Amino acid sequence: DQKGDTENKSNVKVVVRIRPENSMEQSGNHRIVVKAMNEHVLVFDPNEQSSPEYGYRHRHHRRDIRKRQNKDLKFAFDYVFDPGSANHQVYQQTTKKVLDSFMEGYNCSVFAYGATGAGKTHTMLGNPAMPGVMYLTMMDLYNRIGAVEGQKTCDIAVSYLEVYNEQIRDLLMGGKTLPVREDANNGVVIPGLSLHKPKDADELLHMLHYGNKNRTQHPTDANAESSRSHAVFQVFVRQKDRTANISAEVKVAKLCLVDLAGSERATVTKNRGKRFREGANINRSLLALGNVINALADPKYKGHVPYRDSKLTRLLKDSLGGNCKTVMIAAVSPSGHTYEDTYNTLKYADRAKNI
Ligand code: ADP
Ligand code: MG
Repeated sequence: DQKGDTENKSNVKVVVRIRPENSMEQSGNHRIVVKAMNEHVLVFDPNEQSSPEYGYRHRHHRRDIRKRQNKDLKFAFDYVFDPGSANHQVYQQTTKKVLDSFMEGYNCSVFAYGATGAGKTHTMLGNPAMPGVMYLTMMDLYNRIGAVEGQKTCDIAVSYLEVYNEQIRDLLMGGKTLPVREDANNGVVIPGLSLHKPKDADELLHMLHYGNKNRTQHPTDANAESSRSHAVFQVFVRQKDRTANISAEVKVAKLCLVDLAGSERATVTKNRGKRFREGANINRSLLALGNVINALADPKYKGHVPYRDSKLTRLLKDSLGGNCKTVMIAAVSPSGHTYEDTYNTLKYADRAKNI
């Protein structure tokens, strides 16, 4: 196992995080359908016979002789986090790995993808006791900037927005929907989006949770907490060498940390009309994002990259592709209760990988 040689050098990394079973899943008679085999491989719908050590709890299951064959599919990813892993470990293996590029001036993006309830918000936002990737990233950036204070001046600012129903809204300053423009010099710009400079960790935490509360959420039949908005936390860093030289290098870069809307299919809900349209739009953004990442991950891809297919991909156009680093964190529940969602998420994540 030559880890150094096999580490994925491409600009797209895909990891999977398996969360612990929740109490509803534990008390139901569900089997475990996702199991980490090691840091890089997981098995979906494992075969009871071939691998008794994983996948099945010692519970009494109703035996059904007509039962279909288990898929027993193995997937390899840049990293697989088992249910025991903590947010800081996920951070270490994902966003932390793109910070060098970011500090060198390259835009980067990190996504949490998965069905509602799979653990996206826990990973990206977390809670005050277990802060997520957004918070951990900022703490690391403050430290890094503090360490180079003598040589450089660094400006940090953040914004927090959502894409809901193909419209952009500021999560930190309520109001009207915002446009997205592409500018030859500045890349993607969102005129009117508020920029903030939290003065300390407490203020940052408060801001993240305040913004998250402002996300548009609607109870539906499928899931009372289903989230249909994509939350985009952006970090802007501007660095300038402290020299008398007026031509001192200025580096500007943007890091986008995205808590995507639930990936479950719109057809799961019984709602018609408004909800259905929302679902269709969310699928459009998620589908477009998948197509863009898929195109970027394939070194042989020659066609045009379909950024314009959704608001989300237009918004992220300058943070995907080129020298930008991208990390996809696919979140799944281990429970057979969400078998189809998990299977779909693993297929999406697998498709996003470098081929
Ligand atoms: P999503 O944002 O994908 O809809 P959440 O992050 O809100 O899902 O997770 C659903 C529930 O599961 C929440 O109550 C959350 O606290 C819990 N949860 C998710 N991931 C973990 C984890 N790794 N460890 C402990 N609890 C988790
Ligand atoms: Mg969520």
